[in-house]
Amino acid sequence: MGKIIDGKAVSAQVKERIRQETAALKEQGTQVGLAVVIVGDDPASKVYVRNKKRACEEVGFDSYEYALPAETTEEELLSLVKKLNADDKVNGILVQLPLPAHLDDKVIINNILPEKDVDAFHPINVGRIMIGDYSFLPCTPAGVMELIASTGTQIEGKECVVIGRSNIVGKPQAMLLLHSNGTVTVCHSRTKNLKEVASRADILVAAVGKAKMITADYIKEGAVVIDVGMDRDENGKLCGDVDFESCKDKAGYITPVPGGVGPMTIAMLMQNTLTAAKIQNGL
Ligand code: NAP
Repeated sequence: MGKIIDGKAVSAQVKERIRQETAALKEQGTQVGLAVVIVGDDPASKVYVRNKKRACEEVGFDSYEYALPAETTEEELLSLVKKLNADDKVNGILVQLPLPAHLDDKVIINNILPEKDVDAFHPINVGRIMIGDYSFLPCTPAGVMELIASTGTQIEGKECVVIGRSNIVGKPQAMLLLHSNGTVTVCHSRTKNLKEVASRADILVAAVGKAKMITADYIKEGAVVIDVGMDRDENGKLCGDVDFESCKDKAGYITPVPGGVGPMTIAMLMQNTLTAAKIQNGL
């Protein structure tokens, strides 16, 4: 059986390091603050926001939550974003996506100050990731990199396959693997012979959004298999894009869902917020 990568344990280590650094900053008079804005009452978004607030408490950040009604106008939301941009107590601003349909995600994100954009979704931060000169890492792909590192696997020269090309996961994931000198292939819904391509991978990252789609015949014996998917199986139970049961014996290392990538995303958000506070305080 392949080794299971424990995302909860790795994220606990990352958060502990952040907690210690935050405590040291506080002693020097710098308190770290994260503002989280949620519009409407999407149940999944509410859970994410609650988890982010809890993580702030764990690491010693101040958290400021703004829960706005679903009918909030673009003007009202932009006015809050501008207020938070100007607030020195707020080092990071996160607007929980998706927004209600009448609000344009792009307009809102483009108005967050890039130096407070701890999700790294602003085009300036996306561009900086592309050229390899970044302060903020895209949270989920950065969490994946930490999980790969926790196995002791060297990425340099390895065949890396990312399934999915979204702006928040697939594309930045490919960039981070490339910056680590992997040989990267990005697959998507029009990829031909997906099984054949995926089974070449020494490191396979699945970010598709299709429950248990990746079965053992998609993976190479001994591969590192990272499952970003957060899907529901036929019984409504949370599962990933990877069919864990059929892959766990063939993979060298594999992440479970839940308890794999999910906890890492929040830990990396905390990391970005700490980085933002340090930069804003000239540290
Ligand atoms: P997305 O925007 O829907 O992108 C899905 C990608 O998968 C697209 O690029 C799509 O290709 C590709 N795809 C769809 N069907 C495919 C198929 N049959 N074969 C090959 N490629 C296929 O999703 P996302 O936002 O990247 O999220 C992906 C998954 O990760 C979801 O389950 C999401 O819930 C999860 N997620 C988890 C976290 C976390 O913290 N754990 C964070 C973010 C997302 P096209 O581009 O051709 O359409």
